[in-house]
Amino acid sequence: MASIFTKIISREIPAKIEYEDDDLIVIHDINPKAPVHLLIVPKEEIPTVDDLTREHADLIAKMFFVAQEMAKKQEVGGYKLQFNVHDKGGQEVFHVHMHLLGYK
Ligand code: AMP
Repeated sequence: MASIFTKIISREIPAKIEYEDDDLIVIHDINPKAPVHLLIVPKEEIPTVDDLTREHADLIAKMFFVAQEMAKKQEVGGYKLQFNVHDKGGQEVFHVHMHLLGYK
């Protein structure tokens, strides 16, 4: 079954989309845990960080560069980048995503 993020990418369900390109989408978290809470999501449905391989190196780097751009655009004073991995690591959506938690 498609992940909730795949459904957002295919516009099956709505989200506040901040940025999109061929590889990634950036959405606002529906339940923000910081003044700015964005999710940087690869379009490829990779379940967890443990499923990333060296083939994904460019994609992983791009996630960080997009995070930099988003932090600048949102004019945050500082931010945290977080990946939750597996149930015990707090992962709820099994489609890799980077949390950007920004503070003004
Ligand atoms: P994680 O616990 O790392 O898997 O994070 C999943 C995140 O997705 C949580 O912070 C949720 O609030 C967020 N989330 C779940 N459904 C949606 C949605 N439809 N639109 C935006 N964010 C969502």
